Order: sequence, then C-alpha cells, then structure tokens
Amino acid sequence: MSFSSLGLDPRILQAVQEAGYTDPTPIQAAAIPAILTGRDLIGIAQTGTGKTAAFTLPLLHRMALATPAPRRRTRALVLAPTRELAVQIEENVKAYARHLPLTVATVFGGVGERPQINALRAGTDLIIACPGRLMDLLGQGHGDFTGIETLILDEADRMLDMGFLPSIRRIIRGLPRQRQTLLFSATLSKEIETLTAEFQHHPEIIQIGRRSNPAETVAQWVYEVPAHLKPGLLGHLLENPALSSVLVFTRTKHGADRIARRLDSLHIPCGTLHSNRSQNQRLKALNDFRRGTLRVLVATDIAARGIDVDGISHVVNYDFPPHPEDYVHRIGRTGRAQAIGDAISFVSSDDTGALRDLERFIGRPIPRQKAETFDLSAPAPPRPLEAPSRPQQRPQQRRPPSPAARTSPTAHDPSIYPRHQDPRRRQQQQARRDPRST
Ligand code: AMP
Repeated sequence: MSFSSLGLDPRILQAVQEAGYTDPTPIQAAAIPAILTGRDLIGIAQTGTGKTAAFTLPLLHRMALATPAPRRRTRALVLAPTRELAVQIEENVKAYARHLPLTVATVFGGVGERPQINALRAGTDLIIACPGRLMDLLGQGHGDFTGIETLILDEADRMLDMGFLPSIRRIIRGLPRQRQTLLFSATLSKEIETLTAEFQHHPEIIQIGRRSNPAETVAQWVYEVPAHLKPGLLGHLLENPALSSVLVFTRTKHGADRIARRLDSLHIPCGTLHSNRSQNQRLKALNDFRRGTLRVLVATDIAARGIDVDGISHVVNYDFPPHPEDYVHRIGRTGRAQAIGDAISFVSSDDTGALRDLERFIGRPIPRQKAETFDLSAPAPPRPLEAPSRPQQRPQQRRPPSPAARTSPTAHDPSIYPRHQDPRRRQQQQARRDPRST
C-alpha cells in the first residue's frame, strides 16, 4: 500500500514524501482510513510503530478540508502525558502540516505560562497539551474549546498511570459532545476500557502486533550481574564503539545523576533526563543526544516517555523495570519504525522475579549473555559500618579483588548506590531482621 492510495490531501502527501516516508506502517495503513471516516478509534500500538503520523495525517486532512469557523477557535486537542512527548508530537505535526495554513501550539508545565495563554486566547487550530497545565489555564478562563472537532488521547495508559484521570475528565467535560475521539495506548487494560466507555462512541479498535509484545525489530538480551558491578559493566560495554547512541534507564533520578557522573569521569559524553531538570535542560539534553553530541542519555521512565530519537543503537536497562509494560516502552525507544536496535538488561539477584514476570508477559525467554572480558566475581564493596551491638555477625570473608576489579574504578565505588539498593545496607537490614542468617 502507498500513501497516495489513502486519499490524503496532496499537500499532506507532499510533506510525507519530504519526511522521507515511502510506505505507511501497519498502524498507519489500518488507522488512517478509519479516522478519515470520522469514527472514534482505539489504537493499540507500541511507541515506534508510527502511531503519531497515524493520527496526525488524517486529522490534518479533515482540518484542511473543513471550512474554518469565522472566529478562530481551537479545533483539535491532543492530550499527552509528558512535555517531551508533547514537543515531539508538535514537531511531527509541524512537519506534516508545513504546506497547510494551520496553527499549532503546546501547553505544558515547567515553562512560562504567557506564550501558552496567548496561544489559547488566539484560538490556535491545534493544541497539544499535558493535562495538568491545561487544566490550570482553562481554570483561569483561557481558551475556547467549544469548537473542538477532534480529541486525541495519546499514551492514554501512561496518563492514567500518572494520575491524570481527574484532569482529563474535567477537560473533556468542557468539550462539545459532538466530536471525534481517538485514543492510543500500548496496552488495553480495564482502566482504558472504562475510559473509552466514558468518552468514546462505538469506537473501532485497531491493534497492531500482539498485545504488549516488544517491537519485533529489537534484539534483546540479559546480563546477570551483581548490583555492585553494574557501573563497571556499563563502562565495560561502552568500550565497544558499536554502542554509539545509548539510552540508559534507571529507577531513580539520583541513580541517573550518579551514572552520569561516573560516565563523565570516564570521558563519555553523557546527559540526563529526569524530572529534577528544568524543561530547558531536558530539551537541550534531548537535542544534544539527537545530534550525536551526547553518546549516552541516562533517563528515568517518566521523563523518557515518548522520546523520539532516530538511530538509538542500544537501550540499557541499568535498573530492571519492575513492570513488564515499562520494559516494553523502554525498548520501544530503539528499533523505531523499521530500524534495528538492541536492548540490554542488567539483572541482579533482586530482579529475577521481575524477569520471570516479563518473560511470561512477552511469551518467550530473553537470552542470557556473558561479557567476555568482564570479571563478574569481584566482591561487593566492604561494609563501612559494622554494628558493634551484633557480635553474632561473622566478619565477612573477603577475597582479594580480581585484577579487573582493581583496575576498574567503578567496581568498588560505594557512592553509586541509591540507599535502597546498596548491597551492604541490604545485608545489614537482613541481619537486623534475622540475626541467624548472618
Ligand atoms: P512514533 O511511533 O509515532 O513515535 O514514530 C516512530 C518513528 O517512525 C518516528 O521517528 C517517525 O518519524 C517514523 N515514521 C513514522 N511513520 C513512518 C513511515 N511511514 N515510514 C518511515 N518512518 C516513519
């Protein structure tokens, strides 16, 4: 199937061609004709499948065809969970609408309100917004959404996870009942079904690929590694230049900062993406990563949601995600569209349960891999505090560090652990719970 057979406005087809797309992806081939009929739609598709264009192209077509209202009013609203995703959707929309006389703006927190208020008051044709800030500005009386023809809920599952349901409800209550509502989600959960029952009218469901299965193009494997050796293993893997554009996921923002400091000390260009960073810092890190100035970007799940960077060679799950859905989203960052990518997961003994759950979820085992020249037998760092009140604790048997561990500055660095992951602290907690076990 070609784009031209979809019946889209020639100005949109021209922009698609200029974007370098030749054929529609499966979600585009299925969703575009359905959306053009004006029906409500639920699209179950992972990130990286081309779902942004799947809803944007027919949306722009319908907006280009319809006669604009005499007074400028906002005609389409896209709700997205994070600022990064909102910015990316905006970039996509601007590229596909470059030959159309339509206006686009974003509304999200962490930046000044004034330009967003101006955009709302001007009746910008298409607004892409995060629910929190939009609620605030609508609450202050800005924006006229009585002319909304289309509402799109993108990554709806994540918006629900992030607790946006009350804001979404209040925003939708202010929209015309007569509208087209499109909902995209990586998974079809009970909560999503409730949301669609509330806000959609006989939606058509389009599901691409098996539900929640990671993108087929991503090669995945696991390194079994004790938690204290993860920094050393990451440094070791990064000695391989094939890891040219690497997105590293951590559970916490402090963990992300620690890894970034470590990589800085190894002279590996690296940035971070998490909610303690300002919007400008986040956008700069993302742009530098996109341009290749940064080889590594260390991110937390929420901050990395929806980021769209072509050519990510590897995703590294430095901290294994507790929920299979997060794994699917993380590895969807590489292997986007037709590209090939690799996903590497570090799995320590604490993660074996989560790994088993994931393998059950995706319906197949993930191959285990050994780093050929990396010494996995280096001992955990020494305990700084031996509790004097616990004479029953036998002093830990320590083997002399292996040559690899001696030369690796990362292997013994106690500063790399978040408190709850520090193996020494865990052992102490365990000893406190059950003194016999030590
Ligand atoms: P998305 O799933 O919308 O985040 O898109 C993932 C990536 O695929 C983005 O970099 C898009 O620019 C790209 N893309 C979208 N549609 C196509 C297409 N038909 N052919 C090639 N690349 C595409």
